[in-house]
Amino acid sequence: MCEFCIRHGEGKKWYLQARNYSQDLLSDVRRQEFIAGFFRGSDNLQEGVEGLRKAAQAPAFVRRAISRRVTRQAKKQHFGQVLPLEDVREIFGFVNQIVRVPCVCRHATLGREARYCYGVSMGADRVFGDAIGNLDDSFLFGPNSAGLETLTAEAALEAFAGHEREGLCHTVWTFVTPFIGGVCNCDRSDCLAMRSTVTHDFKVMFRAEYVAEVNPDQCKGCRSCMRLCQFGAMAYSAANQKAFVDQRACYGCGVCRSACSKDAIALHPRAEVAAVAKLW
Ligand code: SF4
Ligand code: SF4
Repeated sequence: MCEFCIRHGEGKKWYLQARNYSQDLLSDVRRQEFIAGFFRGSDNLQEGVEGLRKAAQAPAFVRRAISRRVTRQAKKQHFGQVLPLEDVREIFGFVNQIVRVPCVCRHATLGREARYCYGVSMGADRVFGDAIGNLDDSFLFGPNSAGLETLTAEAALEAFAGHEREGLCHTVWTFVTPFIGGVCNCDRSDCLAMRSTVTHDFKVMFRAEYVAEVNPDQCKGCRSCMRLCQFGAMAYSAANQKAFVDQRACYGCGVCRSACSKDAIALHPRAEVAAVAKLW
């Protein structure tokens, strides 16, 4: 279990605890201000892109100090965790509002709207929409914006399955921890959180509560799974003609499974795999 499961989930998966999505938490004025600032400040992310680039060139001891500070601050305000599609399904089973919104990262990195982020909430019907609805002018970019789209759980899950086929990794996000306000679909080239965590080792999200393994008896060595792994965790043994997972590199997203027609890849609870049980 990650430290958020211990602190905010009583030893169970913290992102499956309904109270972490509650209207009570969202009604905190400081949290509402943070959310408003987050969506208003999407242009500031451009500075974040530049900051990451500069930090990557700093000496190692400076990078370590920056990394500690970034992670400490992010854990209080806006921290994420990778999760597989089956856990997204569980979340969509108990929240009562799912709203698709443009991704602030893609706005900064691509300079255009891309709709890979989903606001979620419990309580009143329009809690999330009310929280950011009055920001439409500044947050929903461009003349072709679809605005805030309210989706059913089934429609949202179908969209997530499509994102998975694109190779995107699902993540949950806090807006002043422990409140969870979003489930997103990330990739390493466009998502600042993944770039920060995986490319630069400034961690702003945990690995999943799982880790993947290939069953060599079922693998036919087609390598289709390898092109979907964003973390460089899949490799191929020419001698065995099988794919295998480097579990120390694996984030447990489960996306590789969607490419495998042989059902050869399984996720195991991270806590049960000694080599990576404490690797977050
Ligand atoms: S997609 Fe499945 S069968 Fe093909 S290499 Fe990967 S694990 Fe093996
Ligand atoms: S090997 Fe691990 S990190 Fe890579 S796609 Fe599969 S589950 Fe995700």
